[in-house]
Amino acid sequence: MPERFRDQRPCPLCSQTTYIALSSPRLAHLWRCAYCDLVSVRRLPEPEELHAVYGEAYFRNSRSEESGYEDYEQDRYCIVKTAKRRLDTLERYTQERGRLLDVGCALGFFADTARHRGWQAEGIDISHHAVEYATEHLGLPARQGILRDAGYAPGSFDAVTMFDVIEHVTDPVAELQLVRTLLKPGGVVMLSTPDVGSLAARLTGPRWMGYKLAEEHLYYFDRKTITLALDHAGFEVLEARPIGKDVSLDFFAKRLRLYAPPIAAGLGWGIEKARLGRASIYANPRDILSVVARVGRC
Ligand SMILES: [Zn+2]
Repeated sequence: MPERFRDQRPCPLCSQTTYIALSSPRLAHLWRCAYCDLVSVRRLPEPEELHAVYGEAYFRNSRSEESGYEDYEQDRYCIVKTAKRRLDTLERYTQERGRLLDVGCALGFFADTARHRGWQAEGIDISHHAVEYATEHLGLPARQGILRDAGYAPGSFDAVTMFDVIEHVTDPVAELQLVRTLLKPGGVVMLSTPDVGSLAARLTGPRWMGYKLAEEHLYYFDRKTITLALDHAGFEVLEARPIGKDVSLDFFAKRLRLYAPPIAAGLGWGIEKARLGRASIYANPRDILSVVARVGRC
């Protein structure tokens, strides 16, 4: 029988206080709510610990399998390709290309792509470095900080996007409720988050790419729990499906090396020889969920 715990902190989805240990010792910093199955870190970090995670190194570091990104700026061509796919999805549910806020905008590549398609796009990010880049290099309207303190007018956005953000915030339901207040009636939120219930997550166990440092990913959702979170926040889910990312062949070979070393070694060698480092492929291991939801009638 897995170990059970009682904690003072209620589960943000169901308010219960009983948690179950995960089976792997390498995931000892996580537990699962005994009632709704939401996986979370046992101890939520303090705000200053969170700020320490998202410095410049978050967007360029050599240990990106554990935290952050290898070189976010160099991957711009891939991020833009992915952004176009995501906008194609979002635009199926929006009437017009109005005002869009990208929460966790990073260096601003998604919002910039949206702007080029006619959206009035803005960004917000906790990272000083990221917002500085977005405003100076892209001329993007971007604010530094957290959504709660940003001062956006209620009911002022047609769409809010938050890619790989909701697993980083300390209270995901409160964050989504806030997003709902910023949207116009009928407004749409589109988000993505690693799917802890995916086959890839279950097959690779503690080596799954979705597992990050305890200060970085605070929650791990699956289709059921992200739907519950959106429902509690007053959204109606319109679609939820696995989405991929355009990645450089170089990155693809490195990631593959984590899972299948002999294949990756061969592929890495081939990529180097052929100098295809800037080519990209669309990779979808089906372990990231994309969800589009509309402000519900309350
Ligand atoms: Zn729960």
